[in-house]
Amino acid sequence: MSQETAADLRKASFQGPIHLPGQEGYDEARLPWRRNLDPKPLVVAEAVNANDVQIAVRVARELDLPFGVQSTGHGTVVAADGGVLLKTTRMTGVRVDEKHQTVTVGPGDIWNSVIDAADPLGLAPLSGGLPWVGVAGYTLGGGTGWLSRKFGFAADSLLRATVVTATGELRTASEDENPDLFWALRGGSGNFGVVTELQLRLFPVSQVYAGLLHFPIAKAADILTRYRDWARTEPDELNTGLVMLKMPDIEQVPPPVRGKRVISLRACYIGEQAEGDKLLAPLREAGGEPLMGGLRMMTYGGVRQLTGPPPRPLASLEHVDLFRSLDDEVIESVVSAASDDKTLLSVAEIRHWGGAMAHDTGTPVGHRDVPFSIVTEIDLSDQATEPEAKAFLDALAARLRPHATGGTFLNFINDPALTETAFEPANWQRLRQVKKVYDPSNFFHCNHNIPPAS
Ligand SMILES: Cc1cc2nc3c(=O)[nH]c(=O)nc-3n(C[C@H](O)[C@H](O)[C@H](O)COP(=O)(O)OP(=O)(O)OC[C@H]3O[C@@H](n4cnc5c(N)ncnc54)[C@H](O)[C@@H]3O)c2cc1C
Repeated sequence: MSQETAADLRKASFQGPIHLPGQEGYDEARLPWRRNLDPKPLVVAEAVNANDVQIAVRVARELDLPFGVQSTGHGTVVAADGGVLLKTTRMTGVRVDEKHQTVTVGPGDIWNSVIDAADPLGLAPLSGGLPWVGVAGYTLGGGTGWLSRKFGFAADSLLRATVVTATGELRTASEDENPDLFWALRGGSGNFGVVTELQLRLFPVSQVYAGLLHFPIAKAADILTRYRDWARTEPDELNTGLVMLKMPDIEQVPPPVRGKRVISLRACYIGEQAEGDKLLAPLREAGGEPLMGGLRMMTYGGVRQLTGPPPRPLASLEHVDLFRSLDDEVIESVVSAASDDKTLLSVAEIRHWGGAMAHDTGTPVGHRDVPFSIVTEIDLSDQATEPEAKAFLDALAARLRPHATGGTFLNFINDPALTETAFEPANWQRLRQVKKVYDPSNFFHCNHNIPPAS
């Protein structure tokens, strides 16, 4: 069947490389960054242009095969086993329009390339903590990053997209053309078609005051208790988060934190150093003398240094909750889970949302009015087996759940069974209606699936 599918693609003039099982290049092309899955598609078709995307959709449809889309694979949650995996990594090309402060990208572009092009012009996109993720998947799934409290979700910054729909047609989606499709794309992920080009707004941010401060894990409860009250006063220009983790015990990690459990404050302030220091002083006071780290003025592009080189592909389990406040029990539960020397937890991350993310821009992204998220994660390449990791996270979730809203954020979840929890009920219903119009047979289902309304 692999050979037949490849032959059909070629007959229809698919131009990009096609990889079949057993051939060199198949594994590299099929494997997602997120190694929980080991997808076994019949073919991996690497599109080089929108016409290739149209052909791949039509051929998969005609042969009634599962169909998946993958750029970097950071967010691959359902494998297109026995089907066509469309890779978009070759469809790149970043074009910045300095005058109108916009950028146009291909579906294979990653944030790093956008930042490379925009940063020298004093412009910034609404990218996230990791510049190595794809612009398309990140934006379609919402996208929250360093500048989101000031400018909103990446999905809010989408101006226009070209999309190959389930019938293989190429359509434009914008406020003026197919506005229902445009609405759904801004948060509804890959459910409505394959995006072949995106145009996004850029923002005039030339300098930020940003960095990381690492404190001993023993200070975690004090810092978090201060953080929950302090966050109410945080200006929109400031984005912060707290991460509890064990630093690797390797030579590349500086001795003050090497092999230690720490709580790290991550901050990015669109403003000057003196004001930034004043704003962050209460958190520094709660943490005492940091083990290491500091903030400095840098261009927006400089923020990339804070996350370092691309992380290795990973299999992990996560749990995500949103909170209206960080109650004492929440802080106690997450701090004790993260600071115990024998804990299975690799990372616990607390983010403060709000600011422009809380403004209703009319897009279906997430739960806008929720101020805090906590993501806990277990790296399965550490000692934990999957059942052990699951049992650990379930036990922690049981303690957090009574205080949580029950909502999640699409880009942070990897369990497709949770997709609905990422949306407000009214948006979920409307997304299902739009899905019924554009993809009534649920052709695009290898994803965080939104089923068509019945
Ligand atoms: C280490 C790490 C850090 C992260 N940090 C953040 C963060 O700070 N903020 C945040 O918001 N998210 C974050 N994410 C989540 C990330 O944004 C999602 O995983 C996102 O899906 C990655 O996009 P991608 O295009 O690289 O993914 P891929 O895995 O290639 O694609 C994921 C899904 O997106 C859809 N998709 C991708 N391309 C297209 C397309 N052209 N057309 C239609 N649908 C498409 C498909 O449904 C696909 O299955 C992080 C993820 C990881 C692993």
